[in-house]
Amino acid sequence: MAPSKIDITHLPSTQYVNTKSTLDSEDKDHLLHRSFIDPPSLVERAEGVNLFLSDGRKIIDACAGAAVALIGHGNKEVHQAIVNQLQKVSYVHTQSYTTQPAEDLANLILQGSPHGLEKAFFVGSGSEAVESALKLARQYYFEKNEPERLHIISRRQGYHGNTMATMTISGNLGRKVPFEGFSYPHTSQVSPAFAYRYMQEDETEMEYTPRLLREIEDEFLCVGPHKVMAFIAEPVAGSGIGSATPPAGYLAGLRALCDKYGVLLIFDEIMCGVGRTGTFFAFEQEGNAVPDIMTIAKGLGGGYAPISGVLVHKRVVDVLRHGSKAFNHGHTYQAHPTSCAAALAVQKIILRDGLIARCAAMGKILESMLRTELRDCWSVGDIRGRGLFWTVEFVKDKKTKETFDPRIHFGARVQQAAFDEGVALYPCSGTVDGKRGDHVMLAPPFIITEEELSTVCKVLREAIESQQQLFS
Ligand SMILES: *Cc1c(COP(=O)(O)O)cnc(C)c1O
Repeated sequence: MAPSKIDITHLPSTQYVNTKSTLDSEDKDHLLHRSFIDPPSLVERAEGVNLFLSDGRKIIDACAGAAVALIGHGNKEVHQAIVNQLQKVSYVHTQSYTTQPAEDLANLILQGSPHGLEKAFFVGSGSEAVESALKLARQYYFEKNEPERLHIISRRQGYHGNTMATMTISGNLGRKVPFEGFSYPHTSQVSPAFAYRYMQEDETEMEYTPRLLREIEDEFLCVGPHKVMAFIAEPVAGSGIGSATPPAGYLAGLRALCDKYGVLLIFDEIMCGVGRTGTFFAFEQEGNAVPDIMTIAKGLGGGYAPISGVLVHKRVVDVLRHGSKAFNHGHTYQAHPTSCAAALAVQKIILRDGLIARCAAMGKILESMLRTELRDCWSVGDIRGRGLFWTVEFVKDKKTKETFDPRIHFGARVQQAAFDEGVALYPCSGTVDGKRGDHVMLAPPFIITEEELSTVCKVLREAIESQQQLFS
């Protein structure tokens, strides 16, 4: 029997509601989940690219959580490295002590100071890393005696975290609504680099890039360039607009603008970095646009332990080195030895097994599979990405690029339908302007096989077909 079409006027309008909509009044457990109506699945075991649920189902983790599990789940070598570290030292405070895995991790990532990046600062989460990067930028100007520089410019639909300052500079409107007033005051936002939605029809990439850069320069001038502290951007977009790569010359132009006005350039590579796009740093594929400060996280520990990093260019380090001689910032769990040991083991495996090259190669295969498999899906407006970092954006009308009504939660529906058939994807909404638009992201572990990718793409097509016919 063909499923009946859905009348969207009866769908709830709040942004917190997912595709299911019954409150579970029998919910007696004490862990606060993300949603009161959409209980998460219990995962009992995870191995390679597979999650094993308590109800006996096996799920292919085609998004590695949120682009986290780079080397897959259940790696015994990483387990052993964590146990070995725990048996040596599980915690010391960084005020007085350091540990070998923390030293080794920094030395491994920054061996030879790639692109002038000289120092690494490790904390727990992505948000903490971005907060730390912002405080470092501020201290840099404080020590340079430019105290007026407090203003941070970011891009609409960018994502930089969920703490108070990082939320302020992020563009995910749905996540911000209840927290108006929490904001860090000195911020403004410019357009995302998002060709599918915002490059005009009669415009070439060679015209789009300068238009975006002019807008940024205008914003610098409007704020007063001597008041701007930092420009922050994801070199390849993350969840907000879905793995959009910047138009040619954009990052290099951004670098030049920041140099012109003495503004620090911060790259947030928390999602797109650590090999995800086929090179260790995502910015390496975009000419010579090197950041002053950058953040990495998700893939750094591959999910084996919470860890994020701030990587700092020599020219920023030097100001502190010759100034106050300390970074006036710290956390109890910074450079945590177990987390560093886990990340060190993950990064060594990535190097030894050539997994970043594998990511680049499998990414080409995934791209061609997606383009072939989804060719006839009328609701697929765009397929974009790089490496093993891909996005499928949905539209109600391919020609006009009109979006589905946000109340439909089309991306979440596709994600649910795929999950029901054993494939986990990462759904996002607000693609166009923070409110309208839907996409799903694919970011599988680098160890995924061609056969598994083929299953993922087939299940994704069936999930899209099952949902689009409800709203045609
Ligand atoms: C996930 C993410 C963050 C926030 O990281 P958390 O660990 O969730 O705090 C920040 N920036 C980008 C680009 C991200 O993808």
